[in-house]
Amino acid sequence: MTGMGLGMSLVQSQALQLRQSIECSLSQNLAVVQKQMIALALYQKREDELVALYKKALARGDVRLYDKHGLKFEIALVLQKEIPPEILEDCGPAFSHVLFSGFEALFLGTKRALSRGSWLLFAAKDYKNVPEKFLEYWAVHERGEQITLGNHNLATKLEFNIAAKEKTLRNYVKWLEENEPDHLANVFAYQMHLALPDDDDFKELLETSQQSDEIQRLRELIEQTNWPYLILQKLSLYDKMNEKIDKSIKQIAKSVQLALEKYSGLEVITEIEKDLIAKFKEISSLRKYFCAIRHTPTWEYTRKIMENEMAERRSRIGLVYGGSPQKQGEFIDLLKKLGLETHSLPKKNIFSDNLTEAFDYALSH
Ligand SMILES: [Zn+2]
Repeated sequence: MTGMGLGMSLVQSQALQLRQSIECSLSQNLAVVQKQMIALALYQKREDELVALYKKALARGDVRLYDKHGLKFEIALVLQKEIPPEILEDCGPAFSHVLFSGFEALFLGTKRALSRGSWLLFAAKDYKNVPEKFLEYWAVHERGEQITLGNHNLATKLEFNIAAKEKTLRNYVKWLEENEPDHLANVFAYQMHLALPDDDDFKELLETSQQSDEIQRLRELIEQTNWPYLILQKLSLYDKMNEKIDKSIKQIAKSVQLALEKYSGLEVITEIEKDLIAKFKEISSLRKYFCAIRHTPTWEYTRKIMENEMAERRSRIGLVYGGSPQKQGEFIDLLKKLGLETHSLPKKNIFSDNLTEAFDYALSH
């Protein structure tokens, strides 16, 4: 407690300096500050929701102790419907949240603040009827995220190594392929770069952490073991399939450019929509291997071309319609008909800026 008191007064004077420097550059950075404030408010809201969710799980005896393979930690088992939708969307059925001091993050850096923070681990016990055994692997994954300060791929390596140790990896991978293909596919996006952080923060984590034995154990499980052979086998298969997907997405980019050259009006958007749906359908059999991370840059580039061209056409054609209220009315009706009333390029369905959403929209139409 005392440390806290002393720390607090120091922090306040520095906070004052911080506020003064913000004030003098307020006019320049108002937008930035407002964005930070909103982000902070959203973070605070998320934190309050998750602390309440953890307490609820605790009250009904659903905070479980995992104590195997030298790992020892607690995880809250929650119901899918209890998870805030945006968290389920962003993080999936298992996730973790760190309660850490904003001041520590400000002055010691986020990583150090994370390593000193207290982590709440969650997993949805009723998600797609996941078998209890596989739920444990999600728990281990979240513990791995904690220990590696948020490294998703090292956490996944740990998850698979524990499943391999328990001789259930083949069944687990099969379940993921059928129920959570993106989790598997995304592992292979940057499978190569897999070493534990060797910076000071991680070393401090080792020194300061009470459970340093457990962390040493985790280090062994992550660093001293290779990816299970089964996963490496899958890697080359997913690699091959994503090579094919890559070719198709690049062809999509080309056909969009050709359509923009061929059709001069705003109606080109309807032609492109039809063409995109057809082209995604051609690779529907590859959907389960689809690794969004790998193909998103090409999709963002394609969307940018469309967006810029459509914006240019919109202002040019708007001028052609002229200023009379009746003509402007006709122009707005055209934009509405084409779904362009709010954006120069729609941000949903086949034109979603989320490639997975665009792909799945095409397959369902
Ligand atoms: Zn993760």
